[in-house]
Amino acid sequence: EAIISVDNVSVFYDGKQSKVPAIEEVSLEIEQGEFVCLVGPSGCGKSTLLKIIAGYIQPSQGKVFMKEEEISQADWRRGVVFQSPTLYPWLTVRKNIEYGPKVRKVSKEECAKLSTYYLNEVGLTDFADHHPYELSGGMKQRVSLARALANQPEIILMDEPFSALDAITRVKMQDFLREMWQKNNQTILLITHDIDEALALGTKVAIMSKNPGKIEKIIDVDYSNK
Ligand code: ADP
Ligand code: ADP
Repeated sequence: EAIISVDNVSVFYDGKQSKVPAIEEVSLEIEQGEFVCLVGPSGCGKSTLLKIIAGYIQPSQGKVFMKEEEISQADWRRGVVFQSPTLYPWLTVRKNIEYGPKVRKVSKEECAKLSTYYLNEVGLTDFADHHPYELSGGMKQRVSLARALANQPEIILMDEPFSALDAITRVKMQDFLREMWQKNNQTILLITHDIDEALALGTKVAIMSKNPGKIEKIIDVDYSNK
């Protein structure tokens, strides 16, 4: 069963003033447990497609569904992780992770349980009471991921999550993300401009081309030897 269905979506940022849309007639289905990587050159529309699925922008044409329900706005059932971590600097790591559940009126006890669980998952239990500025780049991205996961979303959407990290941290984070995904049967859509990263992580790789932004090809990756 598809968690996300993108059905023939086009986006004109200027309300069809331009002839070429940012993305044109894109369709994509993402199933439970899939790890889909979206790869393509800068400006081909990867972020646009992610923002459509996140509900941050609306398609000019076509529709997007989450489990048969049309997506019309952003909500916690789709967790988003950006290239640069967008943590609240005045909150501790634990409070950053508890922020979403707290807003959703989850009880204090349950919030504490969730943050304790996901702090452990991302290996940052010892940093629970630290503030974001005390952490390395890789650690901040792990907090971002924990914060997204604490809302127990149907899908995690990641926009170039490791591009700003140094090469060694990036490799560590890729290994870490793959382990998390295997362990938790999470569904992930990850954007990257790096085809090697896409092939190393994805169960499916969607390749986009530019002008207009389109999905050219979808590759099924053999995951048995990863
Ligand atoms: P990618 O993530 O692959 O680099 P984007 O989705 O960011 O691509 O951009 C796709 C196209 O849409 C580009 O031509 C970009 O300039 C344009 N674009 C992106 N965001 C906006 C916006 N807010 N307003 C106008 N044009 C935009
Ligand atoms: P990462 O791969 O998470 O970016 P680094 O290579 O930067 O990690 O750091 C490796 C380890 O060093 C971290 O997991 C952490 O235990 C410790 N460390 C890094 N930065 C800090 C810091 N600002 N304060 C305390 N410990 C740190």
